[in-house]
Order: sequence, then structure tokens, then C-alpha cells
Amino acid sequence: MDNEIYNDLNKILENQKSFFKKEGPPDLALRADRLNRLKDLIIENRYKIVDALNEDFGVRSKSASMASDVYTIIPAINHAIKNLKKWTKRVNRKTNFPFNLTGGKSYIEYEPLGSVGMISPWNFPIYLTFAPLASIFAAGNQVIHKPSELTPLCAQLMKDICDKNFDEHEFATVLGGPEVGSVFTTLNFDHLLYTGSGRVGKMVMASAAQNLVPVTLELGGKSPVIIGNGFDVKIAAKRVMFGKTLNAGQICLAPDYVFVKPEVQETFIEGCKEAINEFFPDLLNNNDYTSIINKNHYDRLNHLLDDARNKGAKIIELKPSDENFINQEHHKIPPTLVLNVNLDMDIMHQEIFGPLLPIVNYNELSEITNHINSQDKPLGLYYFGTDKNEQNYLLKRTSSGGVTVNNVIGHLQQTDLPFGGVGPSGEGRYDAFEGFKNFSNERTYYKDISERFDGLLAGIRPPYKGNIEKLLKSIAK
Ligand code: NAD
Repeated sequence: MDNEIYNDLNKILENQKSFFKKEGPPDLALRADRLNRLKDLIIENRYKIVDALNEDFGVRSKSASMASDVYTIIPAINHAIKNLKKWTKRVNRKTNFPFNLTGGKSYIEYEPLGSVGMISPWNFPIYLTFAPLASIFAAGNQVIHKPSELTPLCAQLMKDICDKNFDEHEFATVLGGPEVGSVFTTLNFDHLLYTGSGRVGKMVMASAAQNLVPVTLELGGKSPVIIGNGFDVKIAAKRVMFGKTLNAGQICLAPDYVFVKPEVQETFIEGCKEAINEFFPDLLNNNDYTSIINKNHYDRLNHLLDDARNKGAKIIELKPSDENFINQEHHKIPPTLVLNVNLDMDIMHQEIFGPLLPIVNYNELSEITNHINSQDKPLGLYYFGTDKNEQNYLLKRTSSGGVTVNNVIGHLQQTDLPFGGVGPSGEGRYDAFEGFKNFSNERTYYKDISERFDGLLAGIRPPYKGNIEKLLKSIAK
């Protein structure tokens, strides 16, 4: 481990910890002030944010960025400000008999954890920093953030605007790649939030475990879509393709692959083509169509396609203007349908994280549940249909971090729903009350009966006399 990096990072953490010990937990006014400063800095710097995203990606739709990395964050912050008082209220609980009759009191208070380390990825660098921050700040914590090195302009911009608006003991940013990241995970934080791949997530969890630092892991996976009975297939295709082409599919919750009945496959494909024709009449010079983040990811996606093609898949590129993607300035890949897939293909095992959409045929619902359950539990699961029995069958026999019915990704946008994965797609939540709780210590309190009733406790103290079981039975009813 690099000692110099460790010492630099640890100094920031130690300063935050001493500040917290000296000042105590921030009151509600200070928490609201931090959240308001966060909201203001996002709005004030929105044009810089969308420009930095565009430059880091090569091409990143500025309109989509304005939605995903600016305005989508605001409701989460507003929700936190509005609910601060309610969320932080003491929660009274029942006290056991007979202590409830003699003044015993039980309750929970939510207290801040202290300093939270936050490692964020490149795909939505702003959203995936500032949206969780709403929960972390609401809970009264301080933060040290390490953004992704793959979006350096966004990382520098976040550092500049946050340094200007927050003291280092409130929110500090450290820049660097995996070498800084791996040292970061050895720090004795009060909590560590990691958003990124499961591969790195395993290292983060192992490293945090050395100090028993609790972790929240926001990971990814293969989120399936099921086109079931009763929903218009072309409208379903349009909604899927919107989700699949948003950020060119570089979304943790992107619809990864689709289950379609053979008899509606042609209609589904037709619907996908019509959707792309409508969204992107051309792709290469269209600033609304986002490029792949870098050459490594571009090559990775092309390898997935080559591997599928070599193993018998049929590839349909959706290119309304039939452009040639061979020589291009950026790393764009057209929306691509992959048919005749099988489990020997890498594309059916690896998270795609790009605009490629495998289509899997099914006849029986059990084929779907068997397939999904043979893989890691996904972050999202999407069912289109109006058949309640079918929906119940599929949702009760599978698991995922979240579900959207009749669309994709939608559950993430619901301010009052927490967001997170399950098992290999993640653990812990942010957003809504559960997000606040995730970054709080649910401290339990019991205030015992007054000395006046001390005699009540005598029965459970030595020396034991008589039939103690009779007493225990009367208490345990
Ligand atoms: P990544 O794991 O490569 O990198 C994420 C962050 O981890 C970066 O800041 C990186 O510098 C840091 N890092 C890299 N090596 C590290 C190490 N050894 N120790 C500590 N930190 C290290 O992930 P990525 O490629 O940036 O993101 C893509 C993945 O993230 C996909 O799997 C996607 O599904 C997932 N993701 C999940 C969510 C979610 O909210 N659940 C959101 C976005 C992305």
C-alpha cells in the first residue's frame, strides 16, 4: 500500500472525525443547509455539468444529461429536506410487561454514523454522487468522495464546486484511479458506499472488512425484461428501447435482455426499429445519441457481439440512416438486437452495459424463472403485461433489487422508494426514508423503572428462591 496516499487521505478523515467529536451531530438546520447548498450548486453549475459530461464521454446527450444528472437529483434532495423532521423523530416502542406498567420506556433514535467514504463510477458520475448524498447528509454525516478517473472533467468539476460550497469536514473530494481507490477502502470510515462493478465490489468489501467498516454496495447485473400477456408489444418495445439507448445502455438498471414469445418476436423487432427511427433518425453525428465511454468498453462490447455472432446469433443493427460506424471520431455503437442467443455466448452471462439487446424466446413461464434463477439476482426486473396471474408467477418466483411493471428503470425515479440491489447486485439502500436509515445508527434506548419499583427486579436476582419458572412464564406470555 502507498503510505503517502494513505497518510494524505487519513489526515482528511481524522480532521472530519475530530470535528464531529468536538461539534456533536449536526442539528436539523445545518443538515437542511447542507442539502440546500447541494441543490444550489447543482442548479448553478448545470451547464458546466452537462458540458463536462459531454466532453468526458465524447458525445453525451446534453438534454438527457440535464434530466439524469441535474433535474432528477433535485426531487431526492427536496424530499430529504421536507422529511428531515419526520425521519429524525424519536420512535417509541412497546416496553415489556411488567416494566411498561411501572414507567419503563423503549425507543429508537437515529444518530449519524460520522464519516462516510463514497466511491462513485463514471456512467452517471454526477447523479451517482449527489443522489446518495441526499440520504447521507440528511442522516447528518460527513463525506469523503472519490469519483471515477474515467470521467476526469466531471471529477474535477465536482471537486471544484464542492470545495467552494462545503468545508472539508463536511464534504471532501479526493481524485485518483484504482490505486487511490484501493487505499481509500483501507481507511477506518464509519461507513463506506461503493457504486460500481461487482468485481471491484468484492475487493472493496474485503478491504473494508479489515476494519469492520459497514458497506453499502450499489452494483449491477443482468436486469431482464419479460414481454408478457396483454400489453401492446410495440409500445413495450418503444419503452425498452428508450431505456436501452439512454446513455447508450451504460446504466446499471438498463434492460439487459428481453424474453419474448416466438409469435410476437417480429412485432417486437418491428417496434424496436420504429422506436429507433423516431428517436434517432441518424446516430453518428447526432448529439442525442451517446457514445461509449472509452476504447476499452467499445472493444468489450464489440467482442460480445463477435462472440455471439461466431456462436450462431443473428445480429440486427438499428441504423435508420445506414451510416458506416467503422471510421468515426467517437466510440459509438448503434442500437443492436441479438437473436438466436444461447447460454454458450458471453453476452448471456456478462452484464452488457451498452446498447446491445439479446432477445430470448420462451413458451412456458417456467423457462423464464429457471433462466433468471440460474444467474445472479439482478438489480432490476421488468414485466410488461396485464395478466395478474402471470405477473405474480414471475415476480414471486424470482428476486431482484427492484421491479418496474410496464416500463424499465422507472422505480429508480420514484422519490419515495429506496434504491438498491440484492446479493450480487448490491446491498443497502439510498433514497427515501430507508436511505436515511441506511446511513444512520438506529440507536435503541431503554429507560428502566425508577428506584421506587426496584423490588420488581428482585425476583430475577440471586439468591433464587421458590419457583422461578412460574415468574418467567408470567413475564413471557
Ligand atoms: P468500477 O468498479 O470499475 O469503478 C467504480 C469506482 O471504483 C471508480 O471510482 C474506480 O476508480 C474505483 N475503483 C476501481 N478499482 C478499485 C479498487 N481496487 N478499490 C477501490 N476502488 C476502485 O465500475 P465502473 O466500470 O465505473 O461502473 C460500472 C459498473 O457499476 C457496472 O457493473 C454497473 O452496473 C455498476 N453500477 C451500479 C450502479 C448502482 O447504483 N447499482 C450505478 C452505476 C453503475
